[in-house]
Amino acid sequence: MPELPEVETIRRSLLPLLPGKKIEEAQIFLEKAVKPSPEAVRDGLIGREIMDIKRRGKYLIIQLDNEQWVTIHLRMSGRLVFMPASAPLEKHTTLTLEFTDGNSLRFVDPRKFGTVVLHAPTEPPAGLSTLGPEPLTTPKAEMLERLQTAAARRPGPVKGMLLDQRVLAGLGNIYVDEALFLAGVRPERPANGICAAEWEKIYESMLKVLNDSIEHRGTSERDYVDGLGEPGYHQVYLQVYGRKREPCRKCGTELIYTRVAGRGTHYCPNCQS
Ligand SMILES: [Zn+2]
Repeated sequence: MPELPEVETIRRSLLPLLPGKKIEEAQIFLEKAVKPSPEAVRDGLIGREIMDIKRRGKYLIIQLDNEQWVTIHLRMSGRLVFMPASAPLEKHTTLTLEFTDGNSLRFVDPRKFGTVVLHAPTEPPAGLSTLGPEPLTTPKAEMLERLQTAAARRPGPVKGMLLDQRVLAGLGNIYVDEALFLAGVRPERPANGICAAEWEKIYESMLKVLNDSIEHRGTSERDYVDGLGEPGYHQVYLQVYGRKREPCRKCGTELIYTRVAGRGTHYCPNCQS
């Protein structure tokens, strides 16, 4: 499921294509996915021009020429792909935007958890308004303080805290497992038992795994593709995620696969303590 690097890759792939496009038609095929209502979204989109496309955490934000935003969350399996409007409609299409130049943007979502919200910038949907800071652009000192302050109140596993989008935005199961491996910290460690030096390692590791994955255009383990339908290749570089009980790439010890914070979790019992 798309996390920060995948959503950022989609954004970058759509950035040369979307701004300046004028929406001629909007078709909604899954009514429960759009808010405030299918009619309001359709009326609010038709005739508008796209100005920009931004990312916040795992959300994509399409900015329209009338100060309205379309905030899209891909959730489990959503894909947002640019293609000619004449291309056949894929199964599980939630929404299509057709542009005056004959192109279209399709939101396809087999698991149907993805959402599309049309709103004023001052009235963001709940998930967006409560998001913590962006790990890649927030200054290091500020980010470290944020992490340590949040951790002080949390006896639960550090993995659960890093997955909490209110603490910091954009990380999910893949990059939390990868960052903790790189930092040498076990995912089930109580967040409030992690020392300042370890937080610094976790922070640096997080930046590295996120930046490396963006460079590799994201991780395609199942559904993920970029805005042109191309898969990423960071899966080749994963150290622990998805490698249940295989030997650690660093020390050869058999990796452990278990549940932490309710999620399938991978770590090396030798490299992480
Ligand atoms: Zn190891």
